[in-house]
Amino acid sequence: MPIPNDRSSLPEIVLRQECNYIAVFLTMACPYRCSYCINEHESPRKKEDILPGSEWVRGLSRLTNLERQEGAVPVTLQGGEPSVHPDFYEIINGLPERIPIDLLTNLSFDVERFIARVDPARLKRQAPYASIRVSYHPGQVAFEELLVKTHRLMEAGFSIGIYGVLHPDQQEHILAMQQRAVREGVDFRTKEFLGFARGRLYGQYKYEDACTLSHTRQVRCRTSELLIGAGGNVYRCHHDLYEQGEPIGHILDPGFEMMNEPRPCRWYGHCNPCDIKVKTNRLQQFGYTAVDIEFPATAGGRRKSRRAVAAATG
Ligand code: SF4
Ligand code: SF4
Repeated sequence: MPIPNDRSSLPEIVLRQECNYIAVFLTMACPYRCSYCINEHESPRKKEDILPGSEWVRGLSRLTNLERQEGAVPVTLQGGEPSVHPDFYEIINGLPERIPIDLLTNLSFDVERFIARVDPARLKRQAPYASIRVSYHPGQVAFEELLVKTHRLMEAGFSIGIYGVLHPDQQEHILAMQQRAVREGVDFRTKEFLGFARGRLYGQYKYEDACTLSHTRQVRCRTSELLIGAGGNVYRCHHDLYEQGEPIGHILDPGFEMMNEPRPCRWYGHCNPCDIKVKTNRLQQFGYTAVDIEFPATAGGRRKSRRAVAAATG
């Protein structure tokens, strides 16, 4: 979808009350090459135009109705690796203060530069988890290096914690590193592995055949998350985001608004685990799922998988 050129002020985008997550994929680029990564690093999609920082600030500043009883819904900057965006600091420092910011990162950036350019208060809020959530990727970075950087950001006053995915091939190592981090006073949490490994699909899903890649079915689907891709397009789910499905709008489209109605979808069966997994919400309450799916009586045909689902991002 082309970026609108109209420079006039844009109307508000009112966040639906049930929306509890705003994901901003600043870029899908990343300096690491994890074998389980869901991004296709060599794909032409990686070279698609990313939205400049000024346009991100303009588009995200439209968001209203973020306030909730437990605190405002943050904008979560993620990727890929969000710090790779050339205007990363302009975006963080340009968003209005009423919009809280969370950051999902692999911490590959220069932490001294980050400390010099970002106020710790800008990424800190009342929440049962850290605002900067660092993903640890064994084989891509030495854990010692990650710990040193994390300690440095903690000393500088940032709210930060490390997360490790319990991939069946890495589980022992992740748990050992967790023990080490906790001994050093660092918040280290584990995440369930989602996707195929060792010949089976891992993860706890609300709809058990949604991610099996064995069939497709026509359904109607309603999401409670706002997912915005690197070019500013808004997608109904992670499947569409990663597979370049048809966007449902653009963050700079004056006519864009969040809809409450379920949308028709013919890709059920190839859903992304991120959308279907049973997980904790931003209040760390277990049992939340990003989408609600309605099943009509008729079943669809089969199709070939474009690629297997993978494990984790960020
Ligand atoms: S059914 Fe699956 S692929 Fe379709 S919109 Fe919902 S989550 Fe996405
Ligand atoms: S999983 Fe995350 S850190 Fe690893 S290559 Fe993909 S985006 Fe980069």
